[in-house]
Amino acid sequence: MEFSSKLLERAVNEMAQLPGIGKRTALRLVLHLLKQPKEQTELFASALLKMREEIKFCRECHNISDVDVCEICANPSRDTSVVCVVEDIRDVMALENTGIFKGLYHVLGGKISPIDGVGPSQLNINSLVDKVKSGRVKEVIFALSSTMEGDTTNFYIYKQIKEYGVTTSAIARGIAIGDELEYADEVTLGRSLLHRIPFENSIKNM
Ligand SMILES: [Zn+2]
Repeated sequence: MEFSSKLLERAVNEMAQLPGIGKRTALRLVLHLLKQPKEQTELFASALLKMREEIKFCRECHNISDVDVCEICANPSRDTSVVCVVEDIRDVMALENTGIFKGLYHVLGGKISPIDGVGPSQLNINSLVDKVKSGRVKEVIFALSSTMEGDTTNFYIYKQIKEYGVTTSAIARGIAIGDELEYADEVTLGRSLLHRIPFENSIKNM
């Protein structure tokens, strides 16, 4: 791609770093921004910068938050004895949309994936084990996507926490193997949470 302007080229290259955005799409987006009033670009840029500088991770569940403890963890009507383990914030949003779950979440920040160089120590696993050890958690629900990495992660955590006598369950798979939680419709996802099964039953094939 030949550019008539170095400034344009640089903006396109930056935009093309985003996932799913090729050079052509990046060019289209950048040209669109150029056509907008300058204030619009300033709002856009400052929203991104502000988010990057000020966003926090909840110290309880590692969900993205504007404050130290997220709204879900801070809500006194949530059941603190049930913790649903998810991969990232998109799963929290998907499960919250079902309106069914009244417990708390624990956001791992990824899945164990040796191929991608992600080991247990890079994920928020120790803080989950500590929570279970403290005795305030009665049930841990595994809600990772049912991929090989998801299963490996579930099993790794299960081995760490089972000695503490906590109930473990896995969401029922109305969701096809390999589907990500965020793509499941709310009714299916809500049902799979209600019809969760003991974790031991979910790993019979492992
Ligand atoms: Zn939280």
